[in-house]
Amino acid sequence: MSENKIPYRIYLEENEIPKQWYNVRADMKNKPAPLLNPGTLEPFKPEELSPIFCDELIAQELDDTTPYIDIPEEIREYYKTYRPAPLMRAYHLEKALGTPAKIYYKFEGNNTSGSHKLNSAIAQAYYAKKQGLKGVTTETGAGQWGTALSMACAYFGLDCKVYMVKVSYEQKPFRREVMRVYGANVTPSPSMDTEVGRKILEAHPGTTGSLGCAISEAVEVATKNDGYRYVLGSVLNQVLLHQSVIGLEAKAALDKYGITPDIIIGCAGGGSNLGGLISPFMGEKLRGEKDYRIIAVEPASCPSFTRGKFAYDFCDTGMICPLAKMYTLGSGFIPSPNHAGGLRFHGMSTVLSQLYHDGFMEAVAVEQTSVFDAAETFARTEGILPAPESSHAIRVAIDEALKCKETGEEKTILFGLTGTGYFDMYAYEAFHDGRMSDYIPTDEDLQLGFNGIPIFPGNEI
Ligand SMILES: *Cc1c(COP(=O)(O)O)cnc(C)c1O
Repeated sequence: MSENKIPYRIYLEENEIPKQWYNVRADMKNKPAPLLNPGTLEPFKPEELSPIFCDELIAQELDDTTPYIDIPEEIREYYKTYRPAPLMRAYHLEKALGTPAKIYYKFEGNNTSGSHKLNSAIAQAYYAKKQGLKGVTTETGAGQWGTALSMACAYFGLDCKVYMVKVSYEQKPFRREVMRVYGANVTPSPSMDTEVGRKILEAHPGTTGSLGCAISEAVEVATKNDGYRYVLGSVLNQVLLHQSVIGLEAKAALDKYGITPDIIIGCAGGGSNLGGLISPFMGEKLRGEKDYRIIAVEPASCPSFTRGKFAYDFCDTGMICPLAKMYTLGSGFIPSPNHAGGLRFHGMSTVLSQLYHDGFMEAVAVEQTSVFDAAETFARTEGILPAPESSHAIRVAIDEALKCKETGEEKTILFGLTGTGYFDMYAYEAFHDGRMSDYIPTDEDLQLGFNGIPIFPGNEI
């Protein structure tokens, strides 16, 4: 098919929403390392995880071998309210850049939560309801996950308790209000509600909080209340599995027009959108069928892949969660409060960590003013107001397209546009007023976080 026939928006039909999730672990020779019990340093058994997580989600978490897992029809019926998500050709951006590269993006901001997180929230709420639970607890940083989970809990009639990182709670009061529209209970973290919150406040009065700390509080509340479990919007294998709908749809849309991307780019916080977007492509790469350049983009202020250690570490500040082997900055790492762009988690998906360690993907760290610069170039050409997180991917997509301009190569670039930035206006304002800085942690700053990584035989850093 000739180039000019490719539409601006490549749509799929409702019946083309995937019927199964794809589990990339099934095709990995080196499986991601198992979660360890911090008490015994032995791999967790399903029954040890069941006070924390829903049973069906534990099964998905531990399943490294089943390549395709059916998506229950009740979940697909909610997916149908906002999926298939459009795959866009960025003709206007290409023209503005004067690049011969062909740029595509998969837009996941087309729902009220404003991000891809709803894909996993619906699945997790569904399994919690099916288990007969009363409700779920969680943490949220920038607020998209809390919003997505609130929506999903409203759909299935579950109670939803959200611990929101204090700095975001204060900067984004309207995010909190949206969650309350959907019936969630929102508490700034650290709070005095939990033992771990009180401990953290005592040690660090005036702290602006962190995701790791909010996770500890949410887990404590789930384990201390009957009929509650904890759910997480990123990092975990099950979340990457649910997010594979992004990549499966993107690939189906590209295949309709015979398009093969050369480069696939995604921002990486805990790794769920990137893991989901790349999964079917990575599967082909792992099976030796095709090759792609795959690039993870992270903030220079929270550089887990590019400057972190590949080691077992805690997922939370309170050190009550399982140990995961991942690229990590240490569970005590707290990014500078002037970092505005999300993607603040100290660790990374164990799946992506293993794939990165084995050389199947690359990672780059970018500074936030250059990210907002890219966000504006994108908004002024493509029209969508991007989330700061998503704009990390835009930055590198533009950089790769500009390299093509120099070399004259007509590469095909696919990136994940994970969400919209309507609630990030303080960050945009700081950028416009010239108050945004590019804080990059020094090696000494990072060492403080590394000091908190547990050392045991086989886990020296
Ligand atoms: C949460 C979020 C991210 C980062 O999380 P991942 O798990 O790494 O995908 C990126 N973009 C948006 C819009 C988000 O809400």
